[in-house]
Amino acid sequence: MTDVSPERADRLDAEDALAGFRERFVPITDPGVVAYLDGNSLGRPLRATAERLRELVEHEWGGRLIRAWEERWLALPGQLGDELGRVALGAAPGQTIVADSTSVCLYKTLRAAVALRPGRDEIVTDTANFPTDRFLVESVAAELGLTVRWIETGDVHPGDVAAVTGPRTAAVVLSHVDYRTAAITDLAAVTRVVHERGGLVVWDLCHSVGSLPVELDAAGADFAVGCTYKFLNAGPGAPAFLYVNARHHAEFGQPVTGWMGAADTFGMAEKYVPAPGIRRALSGTPPVLGMVGVQEGVALLAEAGIDRVRAKAVALGRWVLALADAWLVPLGFTVASPRDDDRRGGHVTLRHPDAERLSRVLIEHGVLIDFRRPDGIRIGLSPLTTGFAEVRRAMDRIRELAG
Ligand SMILES: *Cc1c(COP(=O)(O)O)cnc(C)c1O
Repeated sequence: MTDVSPERADRLDAEDALAGFRERFVPITDPGVVAYLDGNSLGRPLRATAERLRELVEHEWGGRLIRAWEERWLALPGQLGDELGRVALGAAPGQTIVADSTSVCLYKTLRAAVALRPGRDEIVTDTANFPTDRFLVESVAAELGLTVRWIETGDVHPGDVAAVTGPRTAAVVLSHVDYRTAAITDLAAVTRVVHERGGLVVWDLCHSVGSLPVELDAAGADFAVGCTYKFLNAGPGAPAFLYVNARHHAEFGQPVTGWMGAADTFGMAEKYVPAPGIRRALSGTPPVLGMVGVQEGVALLAEAGIDRVRAKAVALGRWVLALADAWLVPLGFTVASPRDDDRRGGHVTLRHPDAERLSRVLIEHGVLIDFRRPDGIRIGLSPLTTGFAEVRRAMDRIRELAG
């Protein structure tokens, strides 16, 4: 059995190449917090974000006033998108833009994908996909008179996609990393399968961006969306991003045809003419305050490096599994996440018949985890902030409170 002693935890923290990054975050001011293991729902704030927000309000907004739009703010969605593409998405410039929420970006990209495949009348997704994804697939299908084909596995392999796609498939909507179990779906292989059948894929990267390397261009991905307030620490309600592969730029269109996506925003034209390139994915005025958090989160990730982040996520995952096997499996817990490191994203989910009540008790005791219906306790691991001793402390409390 693996060594799960406090000394081992201290040693892992001492050897952690990313340990110093914790200092870059606002300290947790509530002394009642024993461990924060929900950074995959809401990442912790960076000190730099607090400083930059103050500076923006006092100098850019307070001093430059309306002039700041032309001087700086209007270019931000594209500049930040390019940086995000470079640091986290494997996307060359000009294909990623920061806008809206993930839900809105998903609606826009799914409509764009379906419009590029006229005559095809099916959208494919899986029954275990995140609610917003399932709801939007159903509403787009209803809006356009299409049929939804459901994959019923909850851990989507390329073969599952091959089985339900064909000449009727317009678009496939899937999460790269499953929000419940952290199972990773093979993005490149699934994209290939769907392309072979003539369809397009919209990837939801909410649980992978900033946690593991994503290679959109190399995979020949069509569309992708994702949020910035989880592993990118951009803050509550910070804007999402969307990616459209350059090969679709000539033809793609999206339904929320606001002035910010028009060719001449300030021309006050009579008719909507889409801007060239990714900019046509925009709709309304960019959320400048929220983009401050995105900028700082992406800059910190660039400094840390996504490969080092991924390596630590794997090590933290292994540590949770070792502690679970030693302490929690004997108490009736089971592991819902893949044990294979290559198939597990940035969290570990434990199942327990009494998970709902236990989760409430844990949160009352300062162990901030996430409950996921029906019986999952999700241990979120944010490599830039989570420590090995912190994880051990949390698992110790779970053992104590469940025992
Ligand atoms: C968190 C999450 C979302 C959130 O969408 P919002 O529009 O930001 O609320 C969407 N999809 C997945 C897979 C998520 O994990």
